[in-house]
Amino acid sequence: MNFDDAVKFHGHACPGLAIGYRVANLALEELGLRARDEELVAIVENNSCAIDAIQLICGCTFGKGNLIFKDHGKQVYTFIRRADSEAIRIAVKWAPPPEDPETEVMWQRYSEGDRSPEVTAAVQDRKARKMKVVLETDDADLFTVGRVQAEIPAPARIYKSISCAACGEKVMEPRTREVGGKVVCLPCSEEEG
Ligand SMILES: [Zn+2]
Ligand SMILES: [Zn+2]
Repeated sequence: MNFDDAVKFHGHACPGLAIGYRVANLALEELGLRARDEELVAIVENNSCAIDAIQLICGCTFGKGNLIFKDHGKQVYTFIRRADSEAIRIAVKWAPPPEDPETEVMWQRYSEGDRSPEVTAAVQDRKARKMKVVLETDDADLFTVGRVQAEIPAPARIYKSISCAACGEKVMEPRTREVGGKVVCLPCSEEEG
């Protein structure tokens, strides 16, 4: 899968997606497999654009449960191969080069809400340049990569679903709460509590 496939999936081309694309390819190279099912698990420490490339390219997806999100706000990605617990941790160390003063001004205006064609074009151009650099820089300059001991998360489980006593909708058992002797779903338990 190439970068264009990632752009199609994500909806637009951006520097964050480019980072995710590079992370994903490095992970596949290092661990040698893509997840059809849950053979590979990704633990991602942010929820940026980068994650879409990882889902598409590594097959670690929200829906299959082999994408684990830890809300740390860090550009750190850990991949674990279930078969033998081999794991790598990829941390982004690359920092974009400083802007020239002119771009700086445009960016400032953009962040203050200026969407004039002039400012929009300058910001788009800046993003495109940044993206190109990310796609062309060596792995060694983008990332710190380490082999780590990672605990293998339990495979995704299938739970029994039961009907909420308040709204009647089906809910998986571990997400139910008992309120006043009735077993209800979380949204209903909050309304009642
Ligand atoms: Zn994006
Ligand atoms: Zn309910």
